[in-house]
Amino acid sequence: MSVASRPVIPGKTRTCPHCKAAILESLSICPGCMHHLRFDQDAAKRQVAATSALRVEGVIRHPPLQEAWEYFVVIAVRNDRGEEVTRQVVNVGSLAGTEKRTFTLSVEVLPPQAGSGQSSKPSLGGAQVTKR
Ligand SMILES: [Zn+2]
Repeated sequence: MSVASRPVIPGKTRTCPHCKAAILESLSICPGCMHHLRFDQDAAKRQVAATSALRVEGVIRHPPLQEAWEYFVVIAVRNDRGEEVTRQVVNVGSLAGTEKRTFTLSVEVLPPQAGSGQSSKPSLGGAQVTKR
């Protein structure tokens, strides 16, 4: 495998050797486990320049006098036709007493890769973000 910076096909994935998550091949740091995957200065700069296009955070508190609750966390992604591309249960657990959990969902957008023939200046001008 070459360590030189080479453009990869946008959206191409690989498996993180540390946490086995499916991640973008163009990343130099796994966004899941934060392990360094390759030493590529351009890829590292690009990842640092990522923009948070969507971030939702919420806290669920268990009412102290109620019986324990069970919960599951589901993330679904739909394409522009409304079809589900993926649906994953990312965590399950329980809450009791005065316990609370904080849930955070974020979507990071990377600037175009250098040498891909596109503008090297990151722009989210055309991005449409819908929050419900
Ligand atoms: Zn990882």
